[in-house]
Amino acid sequence: MGDDVYVVGHKSPDTDTVVSAIVYAKIKGYTPVTQGAINEETAFVLDKFGVPVPGDLGGAEGKKLVLVDHNEASQAPDNIDKAEVVEIIDHHKMNFNYPDPIAIHVEPVGSTATILAKLYKDEVAKDKAMAGLLLGALLSDTVIFKSPTTTEEDKVVAAELAKIAGIDDIETFGIDVKKAKANISDKPIKDVVLADFKDFDFAGNKVGIGQTEVVDINDVYNRASEVMDFLNDLKGKEGYEMLIFVATDIIKEGSELYYAGDKAKMEKAFNTTIGDKSVWIDGLMSRKKQVVPVIDKTF
Ligand code: MG
Ligand code: MG
Ligand code: MG
Repeated sequence: MGDDVYVVGHKSPDTDTVVSAIVYAKIKGYTPVTQGAINEETAFVLDKFGVPVPGDLGGAEGKKLVLVDHNEASQAPDNIDKAEVVEIIDHHKMNFNYPDPIAIHVEPVGSTATILAKLYKDEVAKDKAMAGLLLGALLSDTVIFKSPTTTEEDKVVAAELAKIAGIDDIETFGIDVKKAKANISDKPIKDVVLADFKDFDFAGNKVGIGQTEVVDINDVYNRASEVMDFLNDLKGKEGYEMLIFVATDIIKEGSELYYAGDKAKMEKAFNTTIGDKSVWIDGLMSRKKQVVPVIDKTF
């Protein structure tokens, strides 16, 4: 057991991170694990293709790890320095230091699922469930190709995966996937903000950026004061320099940005004027492409 290799995705697991761990582990004979509970969207995708939920990593200490869909230490398991990282497969910017040479495969495509589907074409072609999972993850991360992170390769790969998985209508399947976690009305605001939340280190500053995707932005507007209270509270408690909550309307194709921190930095980063507490940015769909780089630059 000591020689087991664990494939693990980032904290606040999303569908791409969980599916990538499952698929890569299956191909390599490794063990897929998560960091924390999966969300409703991921549960929907796993259930649709009859694939069980992976176990939790627990502690990282002394374990051999493959990191998928992330590389930043802040998103990796705690005590990552006491684990042995053997490989990274990802589609995010690199912010990773490690004392030994390791295998790293990073491509600027819309999902880690896209990379795995390309690398292991033959294995995926023989496995309907695997193809279905990868398609769900790809459509989730690219917001059904609406996110600017989407590449031509993602679309080509998605069409191939849909054929293998027996999905006739990619768009409809994508909306079913997205809708699975879009209902925020009955959730505590903490769970809404932290469900897809990432910590970053920008020039030594701790910055947290959460995102939710809804099919009607009014669901978020109705809870704006709760969002603001939660962000301000969390900022004080956890020593964040800045917190941002990106509420994305996947139908209107834009996002309302809520934040706690320096207003001037926000206005500069997004080249806009912010009224009371939040601002709508048309066309903003991607934390990775449209939020992280501009915030990084202001620090
Ligand atoms: Mg992810
Ligand atoms: Mg991803
Ligand atoms: Mg994501």
